[in-house]
Amino acid sequence: MSDQHSLLRQRYALMASGVIKALASRGFESFFCATAAEAAAKAVELIPATHTVSWGGSVTLDQTGIKELLREQGFELIDRDTASTPEARQQSMRQALLCGTYLSSVNAMTEDGIMVNIDGNCNRIAAIAYGPEQVILIVGMNKICRDLHAARQRAQTFAAPANGLRFDLELPCLKTGICHDCRSPQRMCAQIVEMHSCRIAGRIKVILVGEDLGL
Ligand code: SF4
Repeated sequence: MSDQHSLLRQRYALMASGVIKALASRGFESFFCATAAEAAAKAVELIPATHTVSWGGSVTLDQTGIKELLREQGFELIDRDTASTPEARQQSMRQALLCGTYLSSVNAMTEDGIMVNIDGNCNRIAAIAYGPEQVILIVGMNKICRDLHAARQRAQTFAAPANGLRFDLELPCLKTGICHDCRSPQRMCAQIVEMHSCRIAGRIKVILVGEDLGL
């Protein structure tokens, strides 16, 4: 008898081919990896040795171990977490907008390949939309939603409050666990971006992962 995880993985693998076709129809090159470790290796394989690499804050990326892999392989990195002052951190986030490869996940994706991202500082959504030569998005199949309404709902009412718990912010969702569509100056979902297609061939690549990853 299959256990719960094995059944979920089977379902994810079955779903992946349809999502990959949908992503291709929108100009996104995509791949399926069964595990987070395989996804990290695939992402590194896709990065030219000459590229500087940066990333947006992401539980998914942390779970894959890709940052350690990039360090081991000697890539030149722009890592805002190594900045010693708030000014240096801002500078690092600006430099990331012109890196060779930018890594991130998404907050939600529809079965037909539309991706939804929320952001407070908006450095991450800016880099995904324009700037870096290449963007690689690593996405656990748990983030696939039936349609755009469900994806928006996931991004704002689940991913934002859950991600916010990582930070020391004064937000109503961090007190109740649910979204209050607040007007806080610290609002994490200050901007919500939907990606419907990729106009520059090969710029945005998606690695779907057959495991639950991220928030
Ligand atoms: S709108 Fe406000 S309350 Fe809702 S998830 Fe975003 S930050 Fe939290």
